[in-house]
Amino acid sequence: MLQNLTAAAVKKIALACGFDLAGIAGASPAEDYGRYHAWVQAGAAGEMRYLTDRRGELRQDPANLLPGVKSILCVGKLYNSPYPYSTALSDAERGWISRYAWGEDYHDTLREGLSRVAKELERAAGESFEHRICVDTAPILERSYARLAGLGWIGKNTCLINQQKGSWFFLGELLLNLELQPDSPPPDRCGKCRRCIDACPTTAIVPSSNGDWTIDSRLCISYFTIEKRGAIPAEHHSSMGKNVFGCDICQDVCPWNGRAPRTEAAAFQPREFAPPLDRLAAMTEDEFRSVFRTTPVWRAKYAGFLRNIAIAMGNSREPKFLLALGKLARDSRPEVSEPARLAIRKLQDGAVADAGLPTMRA
Ligand code: SF4
Ligand code: SF4
Repeated sequence: MLQNLTAAAVKKIALACGFDLAGIAGASPAEDYGRYHAWVQAGAAGEMRYLTDRRGELRQDPANLLPGVKSILCVGKLYNSPYPYSTALSDAERGWISRYAWGEDYHDTLREGLSRVAKELERAAGESFEHRICVDTAPILERSYARLAGLGWIGKNTCLINQQKGSWFFLGELLLNLELQPDSPPPDRCGKCRRCIDACPTTAIVPSSNGDWTIDSRLCISYFTIEKRGAIPAEHHSSMGKNVFGCDICQDVCPWNGRAPRTEAAAFQPREFAPPLDRLAAMTEDEFRSVFRTTPVWRAKYAGFLRNIAIAMGNSREPKFLLALGKLARDSRPEVSEPARLAIRKLQDGAVADAGLPTMRA
């Protein structure tokens, strides 16, 4: 019988299936949809159509995803590993790939884990029931429900933060047509801290309409390097530093990640940690596919990735990259060649300045 499944039993099954966090939220319409809507209306979603088109409206109510949904099982899966934070990496010849993207694509791993949970729940209940698995791309305000399910609070850097586990975890949800006792949200423990706001190199963490903090994607390095297609406005290149896919700075500096636990999951063990920029720039499209096809980096696409590498090379102050940049500057795609030309100019100006000579420009 379905109703024999208690909230405690459901969470126990989720943890036994390999998740590190599990909690239950009621499936009522999203209470902070208004805030999300205002964020989109203000243009802060940039060009991310999946947030601004009809799929955005679906986020208002999880019943749009599963009619009759009563409860949401929210789960978290750690992905932290024992490698340094980006704020501790001073090697200018290396590019930074966001921590979450070092292993397998999490969408498949979380989906498989949640399918296992659903099967175990059906086995425990002795009958099948309607459910829907959501991982990241499904139109649901997942951090809001994860907060209601007690998994953490939403920090000023807009990440979900768990008091014991920090913020290096993926989120997933299992929508259930099963009435379960919901958990309670934890208190917001950011307090007066504003380390993430002060550390953000592009001042992308901005006050929101309701007095909280939010991220203006149009200023965020993660958005530029992953979601933005075409050119990245030149005025942002310098502040992008060494980031070639995503940006971890506002999580690296968060005190709740100071001693964040690490994952044992094989899928999230690093394949690429801060790879040398010249090796990345030399990758053919086939090599890019074979290295990154099954990782989140694939989302940037080959041309976008080369664009990001050109910008990082320009920020490196390393004249040794001039040769690789010369090749990128001859690329037929302007999104690659233009930042490469700007980077060459930057390295040349830097070399002249380092030699104490006046900069000449035609
Ligand atoms: S990801 Fe980077 S650029 Fe974006 S808000 Fe955080 S620190 Fe700023
Ligand atoms: S750095 Fe400080 S303000 Fe930012 S999310 Fe972490 S605790 Fe909150």
